[in-house]
Amino acid sequence: DGPIISIRGLEVAARSRHGMLRPLRGIDLDLPRAATTGLVGESGCGKSMTARALLNITPSPMRITAGSIVLDDGKTPPVDLAALDPDGAPMRAIRGRRLAMIFQEPMTAFSPVHTIGNQIAEMLLIHEKLGKRAAKERSIEMLELVGMPNPRQHFDAHPFKLSGGMRQRAMIAMALACKPDVLVADEPTTALDVTIQAQILELLQRLQQELGMTVLLITHDLGVVARTTRRVAVMYLGEVVEETTTEALFDAPRHPYTQGLLGSVPRLGSRRGKRERLPAMRGSVPPALAELPGCAFHPRCPKAVAGLCDVVKPRMAEVAPGHRARCLLYPEVLAASVALEAA
Ligand code: SF4
Ligand code: MG
Repeated sequence: DGPIISIRGLEVAARSRHGMLRPLRGIDLDLPRAATTGLVGESGCGKSMTARALLNITPSPMRITAGSIVLDDGKTPPVDLAALDPDGAPMRAIRGRRLAMIFQEPMTAFSPVHTIGNQIAEMLLIHEKLGKRAAKERSIEMLELVGMPNPRQHFDAHPFKLSGGMRQRAMIAMALACKPDVLVADEPTTALDVTIQAQILELLQRLQQELGMTVLLITHDLGVVARTTRRVAVMYLGEVVEETTTEALFDAPRHPYTQGLLGSVPRLGSRRGKRERLPAMRGSVPPALAELPGCAFHPRCPKAVAGLCDVVKPRMAEVAPGHRARCLLYPEVLAASVALEAA
């Protein structure tokens, strides 16, 4: 059973007064069906842009300039989302219905002037062509599913009347109203206090399992990754630099960037304990304008080899079964990268 989403060579760019901005520089990423995949990295590495590109909602003037995003739900013919017009009917039918997204701040998803319930029902009227009464009943069921204590009463509440945690639940209800195959969650708990964060993560995990959903969970919190994901991709400067099972990432990270991120995190046994944020790395992420020869991480990499890492661009290659990395220290990567340069 192949992945439900398969991203290859995805690039997002925009022309600016100062040159080309290239927030995504060739993303390769698979989302296995009915599982949670984590996407981690420092802020500015392109995590949110990847999420937006996946739904084909890159903020103007950014647009997809290369690559493919194949959605294969196993029921209908595979479709390349990157090839669809972002504003066209086919993409709009997929968005919300087969792919949905939740954000850090629910107020960006809700209109302040309408009730929570009417906004969820509106989604169902548009996408599912339900009648008014059926849409209302389904909306109330959704509010119940996400653990709203009084769904009928909350149906008539305006978003600003709810607490942060309840608003987050309501946004999840709206995102899941049309039973999407894939849910993209961009830092969904970052703005919440610790207790509420844990509740929302538990809710997402329960819904993922009950509904057999595929989830892409974007976070800068390694504790969240450890507890909720099956596979993880690590991003650096618009590229995925490592991708493997959550177990393998924490046990034996291969890329020096990942090793740096994990450096101050407790080992496997204490994974469930303390929450760890991404520790500060040496130096800072270069701006999206920078065009570096060789490995994008070489100015910050403690293992960089002069004359190699600043010259040859590493390609992603399998360095252990089911474990891919983009670092020239691995013979598999070096062979793939040099072969590609020569071609
Ligand atoms: Fe570091 Fe070189 Fe590997 Fe890049 S390719 S991560 S600079 S060792
Ligand atoms: Mg972000």
